[in-house]
Amino acid sequence: EAFNANVAAASALNAFIVATPEAAVDAAKAVDAKRAAGQPLGKMGGVPIGMKDLFATTGVQTTAASHMLEGFKPQYESTVSQKLWDAGAGMLGKLNLDQFAMGSSNETSFFGNVISPWRRKDGGNAALAPGGSSGGSSAAISARLCPAATGTDTGGSIRQPAAFTGITGIKPTYGRCSRWGVVAFASSLDQAGPMARDTRDCAIMLEAMAGFDPKDSTSLDMPVPEWEAGLNPDMKGKKIGIPREYRMDGMDEDVAKSWDDGIAWMKAAGAEIVDISLPHTKYALPAYYIIAPAEASSNLARYDGVRYGLRDLPEGAGLQDMYAATRAEGFGAEVKRRIMIGTYVLSAGFYDAYYNQAQKIRTLIAQDFAKAFEQCDVILAPTCPTAAFALGEKMSDPLAMYLNDVFAVPASLAGLPAMSVPAGVNREGLPLGLQIIGKAFDEQGVLNAGLAIE
Ligand code: GLN
Repeated sequence: EAFNANVAAASALNAFIVATPEAAVDAAKAVDAKRAAGQPLGKMGGVPIGMKDLFATTGVQTTAASHMLEGFKPQYESTVSQKLWDAGAGMLGKLNLDQFAMGSSNETSFFGNVISPWRRKDGGNAALAPGGSSGGSSAAISARLCPAATGTDTGGSIRQPAAFTGITGIKPTYGRCSRWGVVAFASSLDQAGPMARDTRDCAIMLEAMAGFDPKDSTSLDMPVPEWEAGLNPDMKGKKIGIPREYRMDGMDEDVAKSWDDGIAWMKAAGAEIVDISLPHTKYALPAYYIIAPAEASSNLARYDGVRYGLRDLPEGAGLQDMYAATRAEGFGAEVKRRIMIGTYVLSAGFYDAYYNQAQKIRTLIAQDFAKAFEQCDVILAPTCPTAAFALGEKMSDPLAMYLNDVFAVPASLAGLPAMSVPAGVNREGLPLGLQIIGKAFDEQGVLNAGLAIE
């Protein structure tokens, strides 16, 4: 009965594209058998989790929420999902997302919007965005449909949906989690990570997900630390950097207050607060929206009607017609916009003016962080400029949508670990998130600061 009630709730939110409860039950049975045999249960033993539908799962439809991949059942398993099954987790189903992970509201999915379980205090029943692109993950966890889920973060897609729905999520250092078997968006930025109710659960799940993988050429060849065992919320002797460029003119009052609260909580936990500067912050968003589409335009060339998923072969058509018809039908509007921007900024006449400039900015942003970390251990800032917006509110204005990623993309461009933790609610009763950005490979420092805030 409880299960059926959950299925009804899940379909109301549209969080799952495919449900696989049998797999979760099998994992639970396997744990029972291990317990009876006196064997270790595994780091994630018996935990039913949601899998963002960007991870290839053997024999289970993997769509990236695109018509292009509808019905595609991979014959292989992504490294990250395999590691989770090896640690004892079971799959409840494949979670909805923005199409090819492009979006900040989960409204670009071919399978329909995901609806946040949150409502404004006095806002009637207006449906809110769960954030994106990991909107199925955030909605399912905040509605308590599953205790944890995978996310991916290219320019904020773990942190922003976590902030919008009052949960926790961490994007580890670039390279910590293998990209093998994860549908590629922007390969130099894509990074998987856990989303869960709290910091401890994220630490446990990240341990299961991370690790060197020879099948990913950018995988970090480093041992996975015992993050859960290392959790410690004591901030004595720690320096918390507050980046002055993030305190923007006209900043949402509630967001500014939550940031001030976070600073006060850090002080109470024993930390020293230091003012830092990240001078190139304002160039991060434009650079991201050149680099990410450029890489996407190249990655998405593989969907040609020959190798994967959809094929539209009109009567008497030649190869070029088939490419055109397949891509016209298979890709959504936002995906097409990205492919066009990406091919434009990479084209011979414009490469130097756009793509090359963006790459230089990326280096300057990374240098800003390196300098700042000479003065502090972690950086504290808001995750997003506002709380969740309503579904439909920003869909007609892509720039307004992109602006929502302003605090998230700098850490992505620099490849740094960054986390969002819940930090109170605004006057409308909607959750706000605070972001902690750490030095490369210092997930422990990030998680510990998250614990101090939580
Ligand atoms: N919202 C950003 C974008 O649309 C980030 C997406 C992501 O991190 N996958 O590109």
